[in-house]
Amino acid sequence: MTDFRAIRIDKDDGGARAAYVEMREAELMEGDVDLDVAFSAINYKDGLAVTGKAPVVRRFPMIPGIDLAGRVTRSAHADFAPGDLVVATGCGVGEAHFGGFAQKARLSGDWLVKLPPALTPARAMAIGTAGVTAMFCLLALERHGLTPRDGDAVVTGASGGVGSFAVALLARAGWRIAAVTGHPAEADYLKRLGAADILARDEFSAPGRLLQTQRFAAGVDTVGGATLVNILAQTRFDGAIAACGNVAGMEFAGSVAPFILRGVSLLGVESVRPRMALRRAAWARLAQDLDGDAIDAMSEIVSFDQALERARAIVTDKIRGRVVIDLG
Ligand code: NDP
Repeated sequence: MTDFRAIRIDKDDGGARAAYVEMREAELMEGDVDLDVAFSAINYKDGLAVTGKAPVVRRFPMIPGIDLAGRVTRSAHADFAPGDLVVATGCGVGEAHFGGFAQKARLSGDWLVKLPPALTPARAMAIGTAGVTAMFCLLALERHGLTPRDGDAVVTGASGGVGSFAVALLARAGWRIAAVTGHPAEADYLKRLGAADILARDEFSAPGRLLQTQRFAAGVDTVGGATLVNILAQTRFDGAIAACGNVAGMEFAGSVAPFILRGVSLLGVESVRPRMALRRAAWARLAQDLDGDAIDAMSEIVSFDQALERARAIVTDKIRGRVVIDLG
């Protein structure tokens, strides 16, 4: 039995609290693949889990961390063998099954994807759920038949994890991008990722007219609330917005006007459930489209000791791009 370090959320009558603990392998949950976790990453959802600001965790105790990458040490799953480098994103990891904020994990092999050779575990975690979700958004827009020739694309929450990847991936696919941000100081960062225009978050955060000037052919919205309503109202005939986030709220107080008067589509994007064919396609395209420098420009690596504090900070809007955790 080997001891390992983890961040664990325990709940008692006083509420739920996250703290660093030492654990034994025998305490891990069921699974047919064991891993040495090399890197994890901090998502908005992990911030909600460690602060308890939203009911993300579905059983206690829980090791948070919805993303992890590492090396297989034991496998009873046909697709994996000891030594394989693998990545897991979503699938209930860090919510219902012990997640990536730990040096060891035991998971179902059905949730794992082999790391594409072009990616290191650290870069895979810089991508993580955020990058996969941004890629799901791009693939949804492409399935809808949209191309950069149709007009500009808008990305909201642009300096966040999903937003940064959406800007970089859409730019790589040839789109001219308007990046919506509440952090004007991040304008240079967003331009380096490929944004052409920088738009202020406030311009979109108050309720507006049902139909507004048509500006965008496509979009990725990580914000929800009035922002999503406004960008739909500014979407051109037959355009589409891929909606994946809710940092400004779950509510959607919109009108049907863009849908029925301009043929605009709202494409829902969900990255948690294990749809392996789509996941593998997304990882292959991410490895092909993003070079190492682009990934590094969107991410920083922190030690495990810094992880809990940084995970708490994400819910107060204090993180740029992706924060990768080195479990070594
Ligand atoms: P981040 O915290 O990294 O990014 C969110 C960004 O949104 C911030 O950086 C900020 O960017 C902007 N923002 C923050 N607060 C507000 C606010 N009150 N109003 C408007 N904009 C705000 O989070 P992630 O990128 O990890 O996640 C983004 C969203 O996507 C979350 O809601 C998350 O739950 C969701 N998500 C959904 C997934 C799915 O499967 N559907 C998967 C992954 C994430 P800026 O300053 O540039 O505006």
